[in-house]
Amino acid sequence: MLRNDELAAWDRDYFFHPSTHLAQHARGETQGRIMRTGHGVHIEDRSGQQLLDAFAGLYCVNAGYGRTEISDAIAEQARELAYYHAYVGHGTEASVTLAKMVIDRAPQNMSKVYFGLGGSDANETNIKLVWYYNNILGRPEKKKIISRWRAYHGSGLMTGSLTGLDSFHKKFDLPLEQVKHTEAPYFYRRPDLNMSEEQFVAHCAAELEALIEREGPDTIAAFIGEPLLGTGGIVPPPAGYWDAIQPILDKHDILLIADEVVCGFGRLGSNFGSDFYGMKPDLMTIAKGLTSAYAPLSGSIVGERMWKVLEDGTDEFGPIGHGWTYSAHPIGAAAGIANLEVIEKLGLQDNARDTGAYFRKSMAEALGNHPNVGEVRGEGMLCAVEFVKDRDNRIFFDASEKVGAQLAAATLANGVITRAMPQGDILGFAPPLCITREEVDTVVAATKAAVDKVL
Ligand code: PLP
Repeated sequence: MLRNDELAAWDRDYFFHPSTHLAQHARGETQGRIMRTGHGVHIEDRSGQQLLDAFAGLYCVNAGYGRTEISDAIAEQARELAYYHAYVGHGTEASVTLAKMVIDRAPQNMSKVYFGLGGSDANETNIKLVWYYNNILGRPEKKKIISRWRAYHGSGLMTGSLTGLDSFHKKFDLPLEQVKHTEAPYFYRRPDLNMSEEQFVAHCAAELEALIEREGPDTIAAFIGEPLLGTGGIVPPPAGYWDAIQPILDKHDILLIADEVVCGFGRLGSNFGSDFYGMKPDLMTIAKGLTSAYAPLSGSIVGERMWKVLEDGTDEFGPIGHGWTYSAHPIGAAAGIANLEVIEKLGLQDNARDTGAYFRKSMAEALGNHPNVGEVRGEGMLCAVEFVKDRDNRIFFDASEKVGAQLAAATLANGVITRAMPQGDILGFAPPLCITREEVDTVVAATKAAVDKVL
């Protein structure tokens, strides 16, 4: 076995890490660790330190670490048939079974699922399907996609463009011109403090209408949104937001893509965020919780309205020219089946709802009155604490102060992994859905001690 210092040297010399300050990492200044094993909500690094992972990796290990039901299913599938492709109608028992399980759990009008590898490629697929659909319908000018500021939809060319966070655009020549961004439903940072929640929702709706009118409704193909903004700061929408957005889309014949990569499969205590907020999407994007990250797998779920057009289109134009070698990979599919069974057998959706509510209540009790805490918010098993310089006068921290990173580092020193969200002043929590109340108490105590130390 390699010594830790040898591994660290190889890591510096050969490994290009995603979303990492490359120069700082080369100088050994990042928080990166080499992880070794995990069980439940705990993960152990190579030096043997046990950490409580209150962000479930990248909010994806929903079933918790070390589930042998899932790893056994993966091993069995790998032994039986590690791979066969899904082109020209091929498949495996695992991929067909998982497709049925997904559609059985999806909202009623959902028809088919196209499997990919991760959230980014599933969103790329969804945008291509939207364009294909409009071309088949003979309206090639209806192509623009509306997203929101603070959205996160991935890091590809199109998905990086849909993402509404500057840090993912910088120096990459993004966003592409087909993408337009509108107001984020972020009540705490509403443009005018005199606005009630209701007035703010009306403002978001008016901003969307104005953008559609400016661009021309005949040029707008789809609106994409996370039911609850995730990477943008874990921001639940204000009450009535989706009810106000949906009719505007319907009026202009604009498709709705629900990006369920974080919300799907139990994180909000429901199958999907669309169920939770009463959204009526035409397409859905799933990943993360689909396999609890035991294997890479994503899905683009297509609703009936689009499916019929796609099907008829191939009769006219031939096979759909879109596919990945690893679409519907059998090992991912086996992981997905076992994962959904674990989530359901252990009642993890209910735990996400109940223990998630306890999580936010405990965090609010511990930190809610702190002068540097602007808001404690979330939904299901998601929680965010937004830190401010001066709560009463609403003076915000500058991103360069890196208060989130300092707090995450201090919480890590207390044995708990949280996430400094990209905005710089928000700590995010999204533990595995199996977390217990005692483990929540540990997270809250570690966070409070970190806040007392740093602020
Ligand atoms: N969509 C949402 C809402 C996400 O949160 C993410 C990743 O965090 C993605 C898409 C991209 O998924 P992936 O990183 O698997 O490509």
